[in-house]
Amino acid sequence: MSILVYTESENGKLKKAAYEVASYAKGIADLMGTSVTAVTVNAENVEELSQYGVDKVLKVSSDKLSKFNADAYAEVITQAAKKEDSKVVVISQSANAKYMAPLLAVDLEAGYVSNAVKLPTLDEGFNVERTAFTNKAFSMTSISTDIKVLGLSNNSYGLKENESSLTQEEFFPELTDENFGITVESVDKNKDKVSIADAEVVISAGRGMKGPENWGMIEELAGVLNAATACSKPVSDMGWRPHGEHVGQTGKPVATNLYIAIGISGAIQHLAGISASKNKVVINTDPEAPFFKAADYGIVGDAFEVVPQLIEKLKEFKANNS
Ligand SMILES: Cc1cc2nc3c(=O)[nH]c(=O)nc-3n(C[C@H](O)[C@H](O)[C@H](O)COP(=O)(O)OP(=O)(O)OC[C@H]3O[C@@H](n4cnc5c(N)ncnc54)[C@H](O)[C@@H]3O)c2cc1C
Repeated sequence: MSILVYTESENGKLKKAAYEVASYAKGIADLMGTSVTAVTVNAENVEELSQYGVDKVLKVSSDKLSKFNADAYAEVITQAAKKEDSKVVVISQSANAKYMAPLLAVDLEAGYVSNAVKLPTLDEGFNVERTAFTNKAFSMTSISTDIKVLGLSNNSYGLKENESSLTQEEFFPELTDENFGITVESVDKNKDKVSIADAEVVISAGRGMKGPENWGMIEELAGVLNAATACSKPVSDMGWRPHGEHVGQTGKPVATNLYIAIGISGAIQHLAGISASKNKVVINTDPEAPFFKAADYGIVGDAFEVVPQLIEKLKEFKANNS
């Protein structure tokens, strides 16, 4: 019996979230006195998982799985869980993992808890703290099924180094045509930008920027910090920015280490999407803007004066520390 963790990769490289779910799985394994097995699909740098407490990797290599397919990937993880007799399966909360989770739970006849933020407590049943109501509250959820699937909220547990001696094993799940009943024909992604989901830092801007022509400095700040860019809903509704950048209750949720909000008022629908971010910095001319109440750091000032100075200082800092 071991804890099974699905460690996601992109273009053959394990994602940052893979190390976080591995760290979390190791935490559960320690509580339950067992080991951690990871399952990877077409990933190359699997040996790095040994830094985060993984004892064994089941490596799946298959051209048929080169594009994500929720049904087929759920089948792979199910077969891995059965092989390892895993009672707990950990996944991330990436868009793909969220899409796959219900299929996986059905295949394993498991209870599924999404958006977990802490290790489970085991003294009275199996209880997991998770975020609820678009991150405005926490709830304690109890799972009583024999097998449990946990979706770990991104950036909630962090990376915990835990050196292990890793064994690697090729794994050949049996997949039939039925597992590929729905296929993705193509995925268009922005190639030259950091995606909001993977970014450590997100620079977000709102209607305070006055117009799309002023986004140059937002892009420049994002470039200096290797950050993703985002925006408020009206900004994407007006076509100033693509809809994929809109953050909030009706847009993308952001659970990043640093979220810088520039010229965004901080309406509740926007805050609903960013409350899981660790450090929130707000730049706004209005000291009464609601965003300041949710912020860790705030600058009352005109973005057109503050942001260029910030860029200059950050460039200076980088030059002196490279
Ligand atoms: C059902 C529903 C769902 C919604 N979902 C979302 C959602 O998912 N995401 C979302 O963002 N919104 C959402 N909204 C809209 C939300 O209520 C707000 O209208 C929106 O977030 C406001 O966007 P904003 O802060 O960019 O603009 P504004 O409210 O116009 O605020 C602009 C801010 O910029 C500041 N400012 C102005 N000039 C400057 C300057 N030069 N420098 C610095 N600051 C300046 C102002 O002081 C102000 O605080 C939703 C609304 C509804 C009803």
